[in-house]
Amino acid sequence: MIEMKNVVKKYPNSVVAVKGLNIQIKQGEFVYIVGPSGAGKSTFIKMMYREEKATSGEIKVNGTDLTTLKDREIPFLRRNMGVVFQDFKLLPRKNVYENIAFALEVIEKDPEEIKKRVMDVLKLVGLTKKVKMFPDELSGGEQQRVAIARSIVNSPKVVIADEPTGNLDPETSWEIMRLFDEINARGTTIIMATHNKDIVNTMRKRVIAIENGQIVRDERGGDYGYEF
Ligand code: ADP
Ligand code: ADP
Repeated sequence: MIEMKNVVKKYPNSVVAVKGLNIQIKQGEFVYIVGPSGAGKSTFIKMMYREEKATSGEIKVNGTDLTTLKDREIPFLRRNMGVVFQDFKLLPRKNVYENIAFALEVIEKDPEEIKKRVMDVLKLVGLTKKVKMFPDELSGGEQQRVAIARSIVNSPKVVIADEPTGNLDPETSWEIMRLFDEINARGTTIIMATHNKDIVNTMRKRVIAIENGQIVRDERGGDYGYEF
């Protein structure tokens, strides 16, 4: 469960990116965040995993109050959250296996358990054959699959994705979206900022539209609603 009350984010340059957001997202929901460039979608998303701190207001994620969370406690928050980015953010000098195991090694000490969990998520994303490859040997779609595997290897309650298909062709974007849908079907909350009109209009999930730092629309089974 994610809850925001009157959340405001003012950057040091005085830009007010988010102007009083109120939102509740229940465990297991699939939510698209849409809206024009510069509307505040990334800022909204970054506050959920404490990449950015709210200037005022209240943010709770699975019972943790992010407004009072100490910086040194952030790793504990992130263990229950996976994050997926437009540019994948894989570690270039680690292979597929290591990129995923890396997220577990800080927590799980038993090497056999690590191996089992890495191979399980690799199977889910369909990449067991590429386990020893390096990111630059993979296609964009495959790299995003690795990033998704990494995001779920800790069995988080929530996966947050900021334009995860922004660098991918339409067919690959669909494959990635089906993967998110499958992860959601297993009970994981998915929150995704996207400009992919075709996908949003086909999937018919909850759609939250943000414009100028404010929520202007929040619909179940909603559509994309913009021409771009
Ligand atoms: P979106 O993801 O919808 O494109 P952003 O959250 O990235 O929107 O940006 C919202 C507003 O905040 C924009 O005016 C942007 O220029 C500004 N902004 C974003 N990040 C920063 C930052 N680190 N410092 C200052 N201003 C920022
Ligand atoms: P760095 O500071 O070099 O980015 P980190 O240890 O912070 O290294 O993160 C390792 C990798 O995992 C980076 O590519 C980073 O972008 C990514 N990452 C950071 N936080 C998360 C998260 N909560 N979920 C998934 N990946 C993350």
